[in-house]
Amino acid sequence: MREVVLNAPVTSSPAIVRNVAEMAAIPRSIDGFLVTHAHFDHLFEVPAMQRQFGGIVIGSKTATLLSEASGMSRRSLRPSLPGKIYRVGKAKVRVLDAAHDKVLGRISYPGLIDEALPTPPSRAKDWKIGVPLAYIIEIEGQRIYIESGGTPGFLPPVSDVDVATIGVAVKGSQKRYADAVRQLNPELIIASHQDNFFLPLSSGFQFSVLSNFPRVIATHESEALPGKLVVMDYFHTLELK
Ligand SMILES: [Zn+2]
Repeated sequence: MREVVLNAPVTSSPAIVRNVAEMAAIPRSIDGFLVTHAHFDHLFEVPAMQRQFGGIVIGSKTATLLSEASGMSRRSLRPSLPGKIYRVGKAKVRVLDAAHDKVLGRISYPGLIDEALPTPPSRAKDWKIGVPLAYIIEIEGQRIYIESGGTPGFLPPVSDVDVATIGVAVKGSQKRYADAVRQLNPELIIASHQDNFFLPLSSGFQFSVLSNFPRVIATHESEALPGKLVVMDYFHTLELK
């Protein structure tokens, strides 16, 4: 994050990708990557991971053009809009509409990329947001919803899911949390996108100063929301029965 704050170039580190993949016990091959938006903290290492593990990359046109400029083959990229349906391994994946939350009143790195980039993205601001997306994965009778946050007026367009990964990084996402959970009616909620960003992964999971996670837990309890809320530590695997 130091490079990001200083607007210096950021480069992918194959050693870090390998190390993280090992610690997370990522399988030898991956069927697909679902990219919710093209900001660097979501997309940056996807081309490097795809090179290592294979699989298709589903994301907005902006996300796929940035991936192509980062060296990914067009054959593995699926530029998408809400409504698209894909077969990814054993799963059926549907692309959904989403909104991006605001940090201090504004959306960071706004904009779309419409045509092939002449050079690879280098600074955090090069990873423009693109069209924000969410996904519903249907696999072996389970319905899994994935997003990375949202705004209070914009609720998930699906309901009755088994697992919901809900972004709760900043105020806007936290404000909509109760309505989003009621709409999704999940068995299990994985709170996401609220980690520290500035500390190395070896320090273990720590909340960001903005995430105010105790308030999310308090909301979950005081509004008697459906589903069990969990926070996953780095490199832990959740197996769905
Ligand atoms: Zn973002």
